[in-house]
Amino acid sequence: MAATGKILVFVDFPGGELDETGRGLLSYGGRLTGIVDAPWEAVTPIAPEGEQLAGFASYGAPTVTAIAGGDLLLDTPALLGKALAQLAREREAAVVVLPHNDLGTTLAPVIAAALDAAILTEVTTVRRGQEGIRLSRQALGARVAETKTWDGSRPLVITVPTRNLSQVLMPTVRPSSPTVAIWQPAVPADNEVARVTGRIPPDPQTVDLTEAEVIFSAGKGCDPATFEQLKELCRLLNVSFGVTRPVFDLGWTGFERMVGQTGRTVTPRLYVALGISGSMHHVGGIKDSRRIVAVNIDPKAPIFPNCDEGFVADLKEVLPRLLERAKATAGGAA
Ligand SMILES: Cc1cc2nc3c(=O)[nH]c(=O)nc-3n(C[C@H](O)[C@H](O)[C@H](O)COP(=O)(O)OP(=O)(O)OC[C@H]3O[C@@H](n4cnc5c(N)ncnc54)[C@H](O)[C@@H]3O)c2cc1C
Repeated sequence: MAATGKILVFVDFPGGELDETGRGLLSYGGRLTGIVDAPWEAVTPIAPEGEQLAGFASYGAPTVTAIAGGDLLLDTPALLGKALAQLAREREAAVVVLPHNDLGTTLAPVIAAALDAAILTEVTTVRRGQEGIRLSRQALGARVAETKTWDGSRPLVITVPTRNLSQVLMPTVRPSSPTVAIWQPAVPADNEVARVTGRIPPDPQTVDLTEAEVIFSAGKGCDPATFEQLKELCRLLNVSFGVTRPVFDLGWTGFERMVGQTGRTVTPRLYVALGISGSMHHVGGIKDSRRIVAVNIDPKAPIFPNCDEGFVADLKEVLPRLLERAKATAGGAA
């Protein structure tokens, strides 16, 4: 193992706020330092102050390097990537860690190309093995799963899914008193690279279910009326909509909405199963959701032992009330 350099953890720090992803990244840095056996450092596009800096301290960040003009570079990821590569070179970084979001996935190849580094995206676990560091990844909603060994002979750039980061919010290291250093990149100010002029978040109504944040799914317990109510509820709440196989078989939706073993494997923040019995073929595709809530009329439905919160209720009563509530909220907000 030739990995002797630092671990650089890039925290994009949107709007100067240390969000869930940022806290997850800091926690990840602390854990990685023990596995790779190298010191780590947080890198930000804006210098954290006050409460935000206290956040970095609570996660044991030993040092924070803020890129001068980094907030402007956020709109030109190609330049930000070059700046990060320059910093990584200066620090002789062994590993560069990025969130697997829009920005991180744009930066990762730029940094890897500039450093001639190995790159691995959507890394879920990192362990020390006999021949080096073993990294496992799951991509395309767990359809791709592989484990690779990094021997440390070249730098490594990784992206970590934000869902995995959010699951490690608890600090595992002692609080620190980080020093904040402003670092000036030597990136030319005049550039012809593409500039981001705006960001459009994905539309929950059309986003691939493997990427959805919140999914409400209809099972065979829905009749045509409750099915339509559920679709309307999803539109009003701006969440994604899924179905079980029997509902797909009825021809009520396209195959891309089907969740489960033969359908999509999903990992949302919240999965709401409505009138779904909880067969293993369906549960197998939702079990990695962060929170599962189920509504079923049958108290013995197998979905209940597989959910975080269960309600024994009739959808014919529940859905009109939820819909009424959502309409009132939407009306009130308008
Ligand atoms: C090889 C194979 C692959 C499969 N792959 C998939 C897959 O990818 N995805 C998938 O979903 N299935 C898959 N299946 C089918 C799977 O085994 C189940 O048959 C299916 O998941 C059941 O769907 P369901 O829960 O909607 O229907 P049901 O099992 O019929 O359950 C309906 C539920 O609704 C409840 N209910 C009824 N009325 C109400 C009401 N008014 N209010 C509240 N609750 C009510 C009932 O109590 C019941 O629990 C697969 C099967 C096989 C053999």
